[in-house]
Amino acid sequence: MNQGKKTIDHLGEFGFIRSIMKGCMQNPEGVIRGIGDDCAVIGPYENRVFLITTDLLMEHVHFLPGPKSYRDLGAKTVAVNLSDIAAMGGVPRHLFLSIAIPSGMFVEDLSQLYAGMNDLCGLHRVNLLGGDTSASSDGLLINITLIGEADPAAVLYRNGASPGDAIYVTGTLGNAQAGLHLLTGKMHAPQDISEQLIVAHNRPQPRVETGRLIAESLLASAMIDISDGLTSDLGHLCEESAVGARLFEKQLPLSEELKIFCRVNNLDPRAIALSGGEDYELLFTVPEKNADLLEKQLKRQGYKLFKIGEIMRQSGLHLVSSEGLERQINPSGFNHFSSEAP
Ligand code: ADP
Ligand code: MG
Repeated sequence: MNQGKKTIDHLGEFGFIRSIMKGCMQNPEGVIRGIGDDCAVIGPYENRVFLITTDLLMEHVHFLPGPKSYRDLGAKTVAVNLSDIAAMGGVPRHLFLSIAIPSGMFVEDLSQLYAGMNDLCGLHRVNLLGGDTSASSDGLLINITLIGEADPAAVLYRNGASPGDAIYVTGTLGNAQAGLHLLTGKMHAPQDISEQLIVAHNRPQPRVETGRLIAESLLASAMIDISDGLTSDLGHLCEESAVGARLFEKQLPLSEELKIFCRVNNLDPRAIALSGGEDYELLFTVPEKNADLLEKQLKRQGYKLFKIGEIMRQSGLHLVSSEGLERQINPSGFNHFSSEAP
């Protein structure tokens, strides 16, 4: 009876999102951006816009079953949403939290989860204003909706990149992926290195202040956060901007911990930096004429940034190897449902 019917595995995560976009907008008044960016943007209201983002974390899918630290998990749930507000250059303000709890879960673990959320909410002065609670038949599920605000003239979208723009990231890439390999027991590393990589995976630091400074400088052209992986998220930015990109392997920022981890496990750190997800660094593009000034402004205020490539007119992603050879690459990174997976 179901023969010939397409399944979600066939469509893939991003194919599914594309498929439901048509017909979503019933009244475009007051909607500046709907589906397709890190946040929806609505307004303006008295010269400000609201940024709204939602993300869910599901046991077994987004985090390993029976996490060691519910405090880390709570902090991470807030961090991934903060990162989407950061990617538009906004200030996070209020959040709503819905949770589906499996029967038998310890109250102490739930308290720890909320303590972790409060750690990050306190740091960014974000209020928890409501949510919903349900029983779960299959693992813990947490969903956050976060509301931020911004100056409408400063908001950075995924679709603003132009050929010739320089591509930057705000920090080293690949540490979170290495941390995940260590947590799943697939690989090993000396203890101090191992601890640092696991912290990178469990406690990502969303670049909220950096994102706001980049946007308010009015010098950048587009921005996205790296949640799925560098090439995957750069691919989204390029698709929205109708451009391609060239990355320089030599310029990928790699931490010393990642280099040691890769040496011990016989891996190429550049491959992990290209496709590893969950670093929650920002990727942004800057017209060449503004690049020096923005670099100076950010560095003067103590923020890191690394130039890793350039936007091209020709679509697709290209990688220039350390030896200077250029080849086309496919975006790779985390993608729900298997058919689109690398
Ligand atoms: P991010 O990784 O920045 O959280 P996603 O890749 O999850 O972004 O989502 C891309 C866009 O698609 C966003 O605008 C998001 O709100 C939207 N989106 C994702 N899933 C759905 C869905 N099931 N229904 C409607 N919009 C969705
Ligand atoms: Mg995002």
